[in-house]
Amino acid sequence: MTTAQNNVDPNEVAKFEALATSWWDAEGESKPLHEINPLRLAFIKSKCELNKQAIIDVGCGGGILSEALAKSGGQVTGIDMGKMPLDIAKLHALEAGLTIDYQQITAEQKAEQDAGTFDVVTCMEMLEHVPDPVSVIKACSQLVKPGGDVFFSTLNRHPKAYLLAVVGAEYIMNMLPKGTHDYKRFIRPSEMASWCRQAGLEVADITGLSYNPLTKTYALGDDVKVNYLMHCRKAVD
Ligand code: SAH
Repeated sequence: MTTAQNNVDPNEVAKFEALATSWWDAEGESKPLHEINPLRLAFIKSKCELNKQAIIDVGCGGGILSEALAKSGGQVTGIDMGKMPLDIAKLHALEAGLTIDYQQITAEQKAEQDAGTFDVVTCMEMLEHVPDPVSVIKACSQLVKPGGDVFFSTLNRHPKAYLLAVVGAEYIMNMLPKGTHDYKRFIRPSEMASWCRQAGLEVADITGLSYNPLTKTYALGDDVKVNYLMHCRKAVD
């Protein structure tokens, strides 16, 4: 059974501990996260207000999205189970003059403490690294206020994602360290949508995020076969 404490794969968290200082190297191993960040921020901003809103970034890593949310006026809490990413995130926020509350805690534990206190919940590129993603989705649903917004992004369990996100990015282009992604843990949009609904979230929108290897740029669009973003709203009871 998944409990609040054990829904963590130490091998997965170790991969991100190892990234250490390269989190903020826009040309290093986190380059893809830096490149997609403006696109995901634009998607989030097109759906909800961020200014003065209580926001929690679940699986925040080194804080690439957390900082963008804070710069948009949000009061941001960032949680992760990796100590190193959080240390880097804290240091970087300090240098950037941003106030972000970083905590080493699981989404499930945080939801037990602070249910219904956030206007916006973001959980990006994290579900594909967790043993029980359904449990994290439920925790995100508990964390958000009724009527609030929840955003997820992950990789689709589609052959195109295997070719581009695993073989292409890790083995051919060396964009990511080998072993970053485990195809079995990728999530189809239909699975994600049904898990969200089971957790009391209404699926409001889904958009693809794709990489063009020729122009070396990312774009939002209709192709959800590799990476996608989902916007959900918590039902008002
Ligand atoms: N969301 C960030 C970082 C994505 S990398 C971004 O998109 O920029 C994935 C992050 O998930 C890593 O920092 C890793 O430590 C974290 N993670 C993996 N399993 C976790 C778990 N069970 N609980 C909390 N964080 C976890």
